[in-house]
Amino acid sequence: MGKTIAEKIFAAHLRDEPFPGAKVLSLDRVLCHEITTPVAIADLEARGKDRVFDRTKIKAVIDFDFIYREVQDRYGYNGNVSVPPPEILKMLLLLVLYNVRSERELMETIPLRLDWLWFLGFDLESEIPNHSVLSKARVRWGVEAFKGFFERIVGQCVAAGLVDGRKLFIDSSLIEANASNNSVVDTQGLEKYLQRGYRELEQRLEEVGGEKNGAANKRFISTTDPDAAVTRHGEGKSKLRYKTHRGVDKKEEVITTTQVTAGSVDDGEMLEAVVETHERNTGEEVAVVVGDSKYGTKENYLWCAEREITAHLPNLEETQRGSGRQEGILPREAFVYAPEHDHYICPAGQILKKRSYNNERQYYEYKASGKVCAGCELHPRCTRAKDGRSIKRHVRQDELDRMRAIANSVAAKRDIKTRQHLSERSFARSTRYGYKRARWRGLWRMQIQDFLIAAVQNIQILIQKTDRRITGMAKAVAEGIKAMRTAGIILE
Ligand code: SF4
Repeated sequence: MGKTIAEKIFAAHLRDEPFPGAKVLSLDRVLCHEITTPVAIADLEARGKDRVFDRTKIKAVIDFDFIYREVQDRYGYNGNVSVPPPEILKMLLLLVLYNVRSERELMETIPLRLDWLWFLGFDLESEIPNHSVLSKARVRWGVEAFKGFFERIVGQCVAAGLVDGRKLFIDSSLIEANASNNSVVDTQGLEKYLQRGYRELEQRLEEVGGEKNGAANKRFISTTDPDAAVTRHGEGKSKLRYKTHRGVDKKEEVITTTQVTAGSVDDGEMLEAVVETHERNTGEEVAVVVGDSKYGTKENYLWCAEREITAHLPNLEETQRGSGRQEGILPREAFVYAPEHDHYICPAGQILKKRSYNNERQYYEYKASGKVCAGCELHPRCTRAKDGRSIKRHVRQDELDRMRAIANSVAAKRDIKTRQHLSERSFARSTRYGYKRARWRGLWRMQIQDFLIAAVQNIQILIQKTDRRITGMAKAVAEGIKAMRTAGIILE
């Protein structure tokens, strides 16, 4: 009878047999193939490469021991011996990297994968932890530990020269929540009084002060995941969703910042937070921000003007023009502002005088006479208001006009085109790691998922781009440490 695949792998990678029954394998030569995969050893060696990427390099590039320091104060001194935090972090990375369906499945697969065993620092006899260690670790460590991990990886990308930092591309994408539409209740309907789940939810929300619900749709709430929001995407059905807001640097497409919100949160509201976290994570000030028209709001233009950031964001008002109540109506650009008289002149040569001020929205209203407009032949194309056409002028209109002109420049159009491909590519890569569907429930768990996916994506870039340089150095350091440990110069 011929050898099994497992026996062939053992034979090919046997390094030492110190005593009968004990085999020492050099597992770093076995790259990403399951023992059970019916692939001949020759083929395995010929490939010599991982399908996704080579874990020898992950191990060399990433310092997993940092997590000891990050979470040490969250562990007690008594009780059962815990699974070491670096092992837990590595398991969570495997979960995301291979988009394994469940944590139970991950634990069942670990003993079948030599490369996973090696990556985790296990041997063939190691006891595989119960899958519950992963959920317990998430609760114990909290979002901060995973945020810290993501930021460390961004820091390594910056140190390796993979981030320029001055031009930031921003975009968002919806994530399907791990909750069914059947769990949604109308908080204004009678149904809520009949549903036990809703009453329990209401009680829980009161206990946490209602804060955790964030910006989620106020009226329709899911009883199983109240942090998710009922959100419609395009022409599709409304579903419970989260939204990830992402900043990508152009140089090597490193994700420099990522934030999850309920699906209903408007993209435009997130610009400030995305730019500021990018700057914190990279240590670089943004000079140009590029996004789609959802970010091109008045507030964002003015914020960018204050920060001296060039906003390559298409004007939201312009994209909405010609639709709804604005359809067929002369745009405001058809009216000329005369600064010396502080009034507007309409296409019919009439004057629109300054009439009122809206303190909350900070604009002046300029109006033509209702009588004049009623007798004007342009009236049907100019306004539907009975008392004549009006124009709003923001107190910082000059700055707004300047920013809008920049957003219409050739350079902006080029960047906006680049953004489309760059963002699509970045999110398409995340699809491989299952970003489109929530693994867990609750905003904080979604943030953990998001940080892990973004970190895995960045690690891939880090490995691909710094391949020989860093791997060579890190391997040399790792081998040096190993030799010192063997010689008893340093202790475990
Ligand atoms: S409707 Fe009034 S504001 Fe519009 S073009 Fe005629 S006169 Fe001017």
